[in-house]
Amino acid sequence: MTIITDLTPIPQARQKLMAAFSPVETERIPLSQAAGRVLAEAICSQSDLPAFANSSMDGFAIRTDDARGADQTHPVTLAVVEDIPAGASPKVSLGAGQAARIMTGAALPPGADAVVRVEDTDFGLRDPGSSAPKRVQVYQSVAVGENVRPRGQDVRAGETVLNPDRRLRPQDVGVLAMLGMPDVPVYRRPRVGLMSPGDELLPLGAPLEAGKIYESNSYMLAALIAQSGGDVARLGIVPDTMEAVRQSLQGAIAGGVDLLLSTGGVSVGAFDYVRAVLEREGELILWRVNMRPGKPLAFGSYQGVPYFGLPGNPVSAYVGFQVFVRPALRKMAGLPEEARLTRKVCLSEPIESDGRESYLRVSATHQGGKWFARLTGHQGSGNLYSLVNANALLIVPAGVTSLPVGAELEAWFFEGLDS
Ligand code: AMP
Ligand code: MG
Repeated sequence: MTIITDLTPIPQARQKLMAAFSPVETERIPLSQAAGRVLAEAICSQSDLPAFANSSMDGFAIRTDDARGADQTHPVTLAVVEDIPAGASPKVSLGAGQAARIMTGAALPPGADAVVRVEDTDFGLRDPGSSAPKRVQVYQSVAVGENVRPRGQDVRAGETVLNPDRRLRPQDVGVLAMLGMPDVPVYRRPRVGLMSPGDELLPLGAPLEAGKIYESNSYMLAALIAQSGGDVARLGIVPDTMEAVRQSLQGAIAGGVDLLLSTGGVSVGAFDYVRAVLEREGELILWRVNMRPGKPLAFGSYQGVPYFGLPGNPVSAYVGFQVFVRPALRKMAGLPEEARLTRKVCLSEPIESDGRESYLRVSATHQGGKWFARLTGHQGSGNLYSLVNANALLIVPAGVTSLPVGAELEAWFFEGLDS
C-alpha cells in the first residue's frame, strides 16, 4: 500500500490553525443566565460565608456551661429570654441560666456558644407558629460550637472562589448568588455560521426525491458547536454554484459571525466551489490533512473571518470537527485546551489502514482489567450509523498500515466529548 505524503500531518495542521484563534470579548450577563457560560474573570469573595454565626438546627441557643452534665434524668432548666426566627437580628445577650429559642439559619445571639436541638429539650417538636416557652428543660449537654455554623466556615472574605476560563456549573452559579452577585463577567459565545452547500441536499420535511438525500450534517454540527461553547447561525442549504456560496458567506459576515463552517465542496469534484471561493477571495491556509477520515479539510479565512471547510461525508465531518474545530472553538469561547480521554485498547480483530492517521469507529469493552476494541462496521466515511454504535475512536498512527489481533493502541473515548 502506498503512503500518501503530500498531506499536512495532523499535529502541524493543528498548530497552524490554532494560532489563528484567540478568545472572543467578554460581557456581563445576569446570573440567572450564567449556567454553562465561561467565566471570564476570577471571582473573589467580598465577604465571609456564612456572613454571621448561625444555627444549623432548630433548637435553643445556650451557654454550654449552663448545660454541663445535663441528661434525661438530670435536665437543666433555663429561662427563655428571646425568640430568634431566621432573618431576625438578636437583641438580647444571654446571661447565665438563659436561653433563646432559635431557628435554622438564625443568627446566634451574643453570649451563646452552642445550640441544643429542640429534640433534646422538653419543648419537643411543635406545630409551625407555636410561640416560645418561658422556660425550657435541656436534656443533653453540648460542646462549644455544637450546631453552630461559624462565620466564614465555608468561604473567607478575600478568597478566590472561582477561577476564570471555566464553564459555570449549577453549584458555581449558586455560590455566586450566595455572594450576592446579580451579574457575572463571561465570554461572549462565539457565533458560528454553518453552511451546507450541495445540490443533492433536501431540508427535513421535504419529500425525498430520486438522487437526493436529507441534509444532515448541520444538525450534527450544530450539536457539536453547542457542546464546544458556540452559538449557531444557520445559513442553510446552498446550491452548488460559486455565486450562491459567495452570497451565503457574505450574508453571514454581514450578520456578524466569529467563525464560518461548511461541509462538503472542498474535495476535487467539479462542483467543489468552497475551496475555490476561499482560494480566490479569501485565504486558504491549509488544505488536505493526513487523516482518515477527513482528508479534504480546508482551513483559511474569508473577509477576515476564520473558515473551516469540513469534508461532506458525515463521519469525516464529525472527526474533522472533533480534531480541529472543537479545540479552536473552545479557545474562542475562553476554554482551556482539553486533554483527550484516551485509553490503551487491545485489538479484538486485525485492522488495516492506509498510512494516514486514522480514526476508526470501535466499540470498546472492559474485560478482566483490560479494554478490548472491535470495529463497529464498515469504515466508509458516509456510514454514520457505525459512529452511532461506537463509544470510541481507535487512533491508528500515521505510517501504520496493518495491525494484528492483540496489538495495543490508543482509543479516544467519547465520554468526555459529550460534556
Ligand atoms: P462533497 O465533498 O460535497 O462531494 O460531499 C461528500 C459527500 O458528503 C457526498 O456524498 C455528499 O452528498 C455528502 N454531504 C455533503 N454535505 C452534506 C450534508 N450537509 N449532509 C449530509 N451529507 C452531505
Ligand atoms: Mg458536494
